[in-house]
Amino acid sequence: MTDPVLKHALDHQPQLIEALKTLVACPSVGADPAMSQGMEDARQIVEGRLDAMEFQRLQRLTPADGTGQPAIYGERMDAPGKPTMLVYAHYDVQPPDPLEKWDTPPFEPVERDGRLFGRGISDDKGPMMIALETLAAFVAVEGKLPINVKLLIEGEEETGSPSLPGILETHRELLDADAVLSADGARWRPDLVALNVGSRGNAGFEIRVQTASQDLHSGRYGGIVANPLHVLSGLISSLHDDTGHIAAPVFYEGVAEPTNAERAEIAEIPYDEESSFEVIDAKPHGETGYSTLERLWMRPTVDVNGMWGGYTGAGSKTVIPNEAFAKLTMRLVPGQDPETAKQAVIQHLKSQLPDYASMDVYGDRGQGGAYAVPEDHPLLQAAVSALEQTTGQTPLKVRIGASLPLTEIVSRILGLDTVMFSFALSDENFHAPNEFFRLSSITDGLAAWVQIMRQIEAIDRQAFSAFRRT
Ligand SMILES: [Zn+2]
Repeated sequence: MTDPVLKHALDHQPQLIEALKTLVACPSVGADPAMSQGMEDARQIVEGRLDAMEFQRLQRLTPADGTGQPAIYGERMDAPGKPTMLVYAHYDVQPPDPLEKWDTPPFEPVERDGRLFGRGISDDKGPMMIALETLAAFVAVEGKLPINVKLLIEGEEETGSPSLPGILETHRELLDADAVLSADGARWRPDLVALNVGSRGNAGFEIRVQTASQDLHSGRYGGIVANPLHVLSGLISSLHDDTGHIAAPVFYEGVAEPTNAERAEIAEIPYDEESSFEVIDAKPHGETGYSTLERLWMRPTVDVNGMWGGYTGAGSKTVIPNEAFAKLTMRLVPGQDPETAKQAVIQHLKSQLPDYASMDVYGDRGQGGAYAVPEDHPLLQAAVSALEQTTGQTPLKVRIGASLPLTEIVSRILGLDTVMFSFALSDENFHAPNEFFRLSSITDGLAAWVQIMRQIEAIDRQAFSAFRRT
């Protein structure tokens, strides 16, 4: 027997799709000041919908100084004594460029072959509409929500969430909840029922190596002064030992070796290594003693993203440059403090620097920690049950190699854990031309969201308190 709330939600899919198209037609590109009207239009559509669903305390949230793109807030505290979820999504989208690579205009959503195309449709407007219309179905059928819901719909996700820490700090009490349920953060693969349970952090900086005050003629100075490009290459190659391990022991402070159980769990994940490397015409390479997925999810990295210096124009120039540059970034795993890890790499480079060269460190890239939701967190268990009930399969717990600032920021400032429950799929061209969202994900997503609401309703609120860090 179908849950009457789900039946209502499924019956109203045509309306959901129309509303989604209207929202996608707003060019809410936060990065582009020329698109500010698109941002405002998107806000008004979302606010209008929340108002119609009789969400309370509707307001726009900014940090205390009032700057940045506001987040939209609304709540329905319908279920005294039941858990309160902070439900997250974002209304801003990536810029559509390069426009000429789109088969149809990015802000004129169209349906083709079971897919809806448009900028932001998969990241994150489609997944957001699934969450909102699930809540709407509960209100329509039962007159209220089975749990308490506070909605936080951010407007700066695609520009790195610069105001999010300030918003959380300024509105700490308003946003207080038992856990965060995110409608953002894509599913891994269309062929696999999976939940993202962790992501890597990041940090970065630039260096400049100098060996003289000016460029020098290689006839007059070759062989008698150091070449900074040679020095820089030596520094970079000293970062890893022969096994691919990073040669700065302090960098690994706090990093836990994967347990046998974790290794077994990862080994069970169906993953076709050969074909995933074939697509990029590359061969697996990395730290000795770890599988590809272990390297990607459980091990930290340091990478050089660019190195430059000297003469790179046409023909030759007999110059010994006086300076050389490199950009470095790292991916971090749970347990690592970004600042400690970054300083460990800087100290290592300094320790390797010969006395005939000097080095400046600058250009802080911004940093965030890694995040992993605790194995036994009640919201994670609710998500597992919801997917089991709606797909008939136990979801595989996967991590992602990339960084999700939201999870770490919310953990650090509000002391809350986040479960990613998006129905976007990672092959849907988000951040690229021809972004799309599968219509089947709407059906799957509505079923899973109705079910996770029921699952959360059944959790004793006390079960969350052991996990709260504030
Ligand atoms: Zn997103």
